[in-house]
Amino acid sequence: MVTTMRIEHFSRAAKSLLFICLPLFSCFAIAHQHTQETSNSTLEPVRVLYGGYIIDMTADKLPEPKNLVIEGGKIRRILSPESDIPEGAEVIDISGQYVIPGLIDSHVHLDSFKNKPRTVRTQQTEDFLRLNLYGGVTSVRDMGGDLRLVMELKRAAALHEIPSPDIYYSSLVAGPQYFAETPDRVEGMFRAWPQENSPWQTKIEADTDLVQAIAEIKGIGSSGIKMYAGLDRETAARLSAEAKRQGLRVWGHAALMPAKPSELVDAGLEVFSHINLLVWEAADDLSASFLENNKNYSLEFRKSVPDISALLKKMAQAGAIIDATAVIAENINNEKQVIAFLKMAKAHNVKVCSGTDMHGLLNKDWPGLFDEIYFFVEKAGYSPWQALQAATLNGAAATGVDHDRGTIEEGMRADLVVLANNPLESIRNLESVLLTLKSGVVYKRDDL
Ligand SMILES: [Zn+2]
Repeated sequence: MVTTMRIEHFSRAAKSLLFICLPLFSCFAIAHQHTQETSNSTLEPVRVLYGGYIIDMTADKLPEPKNLVIEGGKIRRILSPESDIPEGAEVIDISGQYVIPGLIDSHVHLDSFKNKPRTVRTQQTEDFLRLNLYGGVTSVRDMGGDLRLVMELKRAAALHEIPSPDIYYSSLVAGPQYFAETPDRVEGMFRAWPQENSPWQTKIEADTDLVQAIAEIKGIGSSGIKMYAGLDRETAARLSAEAKRQGLRVWGHAALMPAKPSELVDAGLEVFSHINLLVWEAADDLSASFLENNKNYSLEFRKSVPDISALLKKMAQAGAIIDATAVIAENINNEKQVIAFLKMAKAHNVKVCSGTDMHGLLNKDWPGLFDEIYFFVEKAGYSPWQALQAATLNGAAATGVDHDRGTIEEGMRADLVVLANNPLESIRNLESVLLTLKSGVVYKRDDL
């Protein structure tokens, strides 16, 4: 069933591509390619994105028209529009249109449909992923859930078996308090698993063998750990060191209770999720219990805007990244604080990336990530270019994939979005996506 749909999909994509091919070059090769196996990007033809304005993320300058030569899933050459077209290449004429790097949602939860039957969960998650890919999102970072579902999706996405951004996921690690205080959430993630611990949700106690725990996390293909709650500075530092030793990224909530944000910078946390949690830097003394902290500190405190300059300086120095998830501020009703912290982060040159926490799930035509980007520009005073940088280069750095994506440069993966209108003129022009390319494979917006 799935295979048939995929073939139909690509046939449609191939047909609709015909009209944008320059007549000089034969397009039969594409039509043929697309009805064949497309799971291996090396089978894709050499493509030239012809004459589009390139918006790169390494420098904020006026976009210039270029030809992008794409081969083997990568950007091989970036040439002037007058240069020769490689023989036999499929040419997609995007003159007058705009190209940005593929967008990255740095905070999703693909296992968000708990307690629903497997078929429903899979379908809803795949719908979410499709909407994102056709809206220009080419990578997502999953920040916690039952990874048994997510692992299969990661494979299918990487092989282009489903239209989906590439998926990078984390394993949640937390202290005993978290497990005691949120039994429902814990049980939801462990269902039908024989032990109390699992490699996607690990309880860290004083005597936990961290080498073994991290090895198990690595063994299920996680890209990083997500330090979630109930960890002090020392435990966080030990976890962080072992994760890095085994080649994993170190992600987590911006405050871990009892560890404060600045202690987490010392402990080696690389990406700090939820900018609102930086408020805990101003707390006197934190307990390992969320519930207790919420009792001891008023709602007023939790929504306040203390001076966190010293913390931000430290973060900038350490190269830490804030995964803002600003858009959920509406839900938690603390927009003022989130806006103020975003502005402070910008003033202190702290890198910020954009994640949604799955905001606006499936209710719209466009990825929830757009709302996060709009928030940066329309509420927190980021320029469109800065907001796009958060959603591309900084997202790639946060995810640990900046060696091959996040910018438009020779040698980088061909993760690209073609827009009809200039997003630097108005960020809302993101809603003019025509094509998404993921490792060189073309997804046409009209086929969504
Ligand atoms: Zn989350």
